[in-house]
Amino acid sequence: MSRVFNFSAGPAILPETVLQRAKDEMLDWHGSGMSVMEMSHRGKEFQSIIDQAEADFRELLNIPANYKVLFLQGGGTLQFAMVPINLMGARKKADYIVTGAWSEKAVSEARRFGAVHIAASTKAEKYTHAPSQAELDLSPDAAYVHLCTNETIHGVEFFGVPQTGDIPLVADMSSHLLSRPMDVSQYGLIYAGAQKNVGPVGLTAVIVREDLIGHVLPGMPLMLDYATHAHHGSMYNTPPTYAIYIAGLVFQWLKDLGGLTAMEKINVAKAKVIYDAIDNSGFYVNPVAKPDRSRMNIPFTLPDAALDAEFLAGAKERGIQQIKGHKSVGGMRASIYNAMPMAGCQALADYMTEFARIRG
Ligand SMILES: *Cc1c(COP(=O)(O)O)cnc(C)c1O
Repeated sequence: MSRVFNFSAGPAILPETVLQRAKDEMLDWHGSGMSVMEMSHRGKEFQSIIDQAEADFRELLNIPANYKVLFLQGGGTLQFAMVPINLMGARKKADYIVTGAWSEKAVSEARRFGAVHIAASTKAEKYTHAPSQAELDLSPDAAYVHLCTNETIHGVEFFGVPQTGDIPLVADMSSHLLSRPMDVSQYGLIYAGAQKNVGPVGLTAVIVREDLIGHVLPGMPLMLDYATHAHHGSMYNTPPTYAIYIAGLVFQWLKDLGGLTAMEKINVAKAKVIYDAIDNSGFYVNPVAKPDRSRMNIPFTLPDAALDAEFLAGAKERGIQQIKGHKSVGGMRASIYNAMPMAGCQALADYMTEFARIRG
């Protein structure tokens, strides 16, 4: 067996120990005689899996008691709609901070349900920084303020939390949830598709303050109402059982590692190796303002796009895969989620340095 260094933006790399454990438990979970995939979600075995997953998730993020954790489906994309459907309320107006492709998509969906005010947009600078508090033009009567705290395509991360007073802050954390400690109490709602940094595709985690539940727009399907899921322990219908089980194993892996403070230290060191390879090269460019550079998704370009194919072929020979950039920005993108080991980052940095020496 030979596993590659997988730099995919998502679905993405998972911790090898988690995959090994899933393999060991594949045919017979804890003496049940069944795979988790074959179990009733109403049985006591699966109930123990989801309860443990929620408890570990709460512990890792220190989630306050007045927040519900929901394990849903539909990806970050369905949350682009569920957020306005549930939170617009009578105000029918929300503020959006636009810092890249994903917050743009959230805006297009929200406009179907109410008025969107763009509180800030960095589009004119090609999405290369996270706006400061002073750059925000917040409405006094918005139902909520939405932002994407890590732009997976443009590689921009918020390290501070915008202050919005009494107006709830809603964050799409799809590509960096669990990469470092987050103060959940600063947000009204946090959501994340699992397949970037949390687990396999099929699961979407939502953390929502209780007072924001129960105000859905009229005429909406029950499945789009947070209250439905909150009142049924995320099991109004059949939940994505296997994805919840794997995410639960990832939570245990993170706890064994020392939690999110320990994970953050590792992620800081990993990102530094790659940003140093870019900045010291005089060859590669990452356009993002240094304080706002994502620790999870690192886009970079070569001096001439004609070199991309050769770079990718050489990378593949070294077991470095899925590093091609998103088509909207071109070049390369290294997604170095929690599960990417330092050895992978070092292998990429070494290869980048060697390639720049030969072609630079
Ligand atoms: C991937 C991604 C999404 C969309 O996720 P889906 O699961 O494909 O719906 C939304 N927001 C961010 C920040 C993402 O990285």
